[in-house]
Amino acid sequence: MALGSAFRIFERRGVVISGLQWTMECRYASGGGNVADKVTKSEAKWREQLTDEQYEVCREKGTERPFSGEYCDSKDEGVYRCVCCGNELFNSEAKYDSGTGWPSFTQPIRKEGIRSESDMSTGTARTEVLCSRCDSHLGHVFQDGPAPTGQRYCMNSTSLDFQKKSDS
Ligand SMILES: [Zn+2]
Repeated sequence: MALGSAFRIFERRGVVISGLQWTMECRYASGGGNVADKVTKSEAKWREQLTDEQYEVCREKGTERPFSGEYCDSKDEGVYRCVCCGNELFNSEAKYDSGTGWPSFTQPIRKEGIRSESDMSTGTARTEVLCSRCDSHLGHVFQDGPAPTGQRYCMNSTSLDFQKKSDS
């Protein structure tokens, strides 16, 4: 009988029938490594959380005008986080003056904190840098940075939230 075989399938998957109550055993819900750490929100939620400028840069891969961002010339000590999800991205020690008009870093705090994707949107091959936690667009990375890494992480101030190191 069709109903009976359906129940047998449910039983094999761990569904317990107790009176009128069905209790689902979520065997497949756990596991998956860092997926639990991932931040995913609807576009509407991001629009609610972010300013128009932040939304355009972070969620629509925009670029702020050079020399317009608040962290372009900053030399304060501290940590630059993702403005969307708070993920720690860059240390001020890795920041240097690239003269490009965008805050530039030689390396991220953790390799896992960011991810990169090939970007052909302008017709020139570039490497886009995104927050690995919430997929926010941060900027691009180029191979013309100073020693020792030789890398230039060219970021939008708009994508970052600076937390100044406290003196205490
Ligand atoms: Zn993020």
